[in-house]
Amino acid sequence: MQTSSNPHAILLASPGMGHLIPVLELGNHLAAHHGIDVTIFVVVADPSISKSRLLGQTTATLKPVNVVLLPQVDISSLVSPTASVVAQIAAMMRAAVPSLRAAISVMSTPPTALVVDLFGKEALVLASEFNMLKYVFVTSTAWFLAVTVHLPSLSEKERHEHRVLKKPLKIPGCRAIQFEDTLEVFLDHPNQDIFPEFARLAFEMSLADGILVNTWRELEPSTLNELLHNKAFGRVTKVPVYPIGPLVRSVRQSLESDVTAWLDKQPKESVIYVSFGSGGTLSAKQTIELAWGLKLSQQRFVWVARPPADNNARGAFFNSTSSIQDGTPDYLPEGFFTSIRGMGLIVPMWAPQTEVLAHESIGAFLSHCGWNSTLESMVNGVPMITWPLYAEQKMNATMLAEELGMAVRLGPREAGTLVEREAIKDVLMGAMDVRHKGGKMRARAKELRAKARKALTTDGSSYNSLSQIAKEWEFRLRHLSNKTLGA
Ligand code: UDP
Repeated sequence: MQTSSNPHAILLASPGMGHLIPVLELGNHLAAHHGIDVTIFVVVADPSISKSRLLGQTTATLKPVNVVLLPQVDISSLVSPTASVVAQIAAMMRAAVPSLRAAISVMSTPPTALVVDLFGKEALVLASEFNMLKYVFVTSTAWFLAVTVHLPSLSEKERHEHRVLKKPLKIPGCRAIQFEDTLEVFLDHPNQDIFPEFARLAFEMSLADGILVNTWRELEPSTLNELLHNKAFGRVTKVPVYPIGPLVRSVRQSLESDVTAWLDKQPKESVIYVSFGSGGTLSAKQTIELAWGLKLSQQRFVWVARPPADNNARGAFFNSTSSIQDGTPDYLPEGFFTSIRGMGLIVPMWAPQTEVLAHESIGAFLSHCGWNSTLESMVNGVPMITWPLYAEQKMNATMLAEELGMAVRLGPREAGTLVEREAIKDVLMGAMDVRHKGGKMRARAKELRAKARKALTTDGSSYNSLSQIAKEWEFRLRHLSNKTLGA
């Protein structure tokens, strides 16, 4: 094997745009600013997805990075088709390990480090096989990371008090998790198959050479501090935690779309952008209430609309990008299109979100609070209206509304409860009223924008974390080359 003069990092992304996007951005940053050769392996769930289509949805600046789509895996004999999305992704990641192993074994430049996302723990075994350092990349908050690593230490009594008695769950050094905000992993339902997945993840993290987290030091100082020093987090306190965010896609200046053309014609900060991430869906009834709520609010809006899915908040998780051109949404109420003419724009399935949020006519973001969407809103100084659906989104919403003051709540606190059009109208109007709540949220969002952008400048805390990681890898590479020379 020939040795490169740069460390070579392998990054592994699990299925779903919300998982792929931050991994691609991490690769970009390492290659463009820190002298790392990067190969990104991607596990895809949708066989119709091609590399160009996938990357076309992400960023145009991937030149320094080599992206490889791993062969499609068949999980039909491993999990039932009705298994949770989490269980399906876990199965796909497990099944992808042999092809990743085969791909690494024929690489001309031996890899120095392996970085996997939250679902990639099965691949960490390859680090010792190929003598790589190993890292886990948490594409969420330090708060979520703290919960994950603390989870195996929870007693039966603590779990019972939270799950059954609905008491807040205390996590050392962090804000407690209210029952309404809890993670699926704590709930008593068929998705309990995810508890062992989380427990194993926490264990693997404690054995890693580092944990990367898409937040920044100044956003969550006390939680990060606790993670590094509080003995309640067990062995993880011995693992370096690197806050490296906010890693978000950069705006494609040359991109022209119907949405941005429409936004060009709207007044500054006058439009509400409505989107539920890469896979989020609402029930049929809720979709209709949202439509009329938007109309009644008399605010301008862009809504990324999806066919409704009853009892499945992740209804489009595996196919939102494959069916981008989905035609006219026939699930919206009769007369709605005519009634919103000039005020609202419906975008079926998928919008160029980074460009939309960076547009000066956007005044607020009604979001499911996925962490990528949240960071994209923060770096653009756009206040949020929260409508969390799944995963850790309810925790994110609480942090945004109660801790950071850049958001107002709208979505139901209890899953399955209908939010009616009048309530939607009131919250939207309040969020856009700059003399009251809306004005305060805007000011907070702009303060956060400045801090978020600073973290990745050359003297910022996250840039510094990435430089530290790159130094570790350079040291490792030199050490290995010296050993080879000495042999
Ligand atoms: N996204 C997009 N267009 C859409 C919907 C989503 O570009 O119409 C992108 C969005 O910018 C974000 C990602 O998909 O980067 C969604 O990630 P997030 O963590 O917000 O939510 P998830 O989809 O993982 O629930």
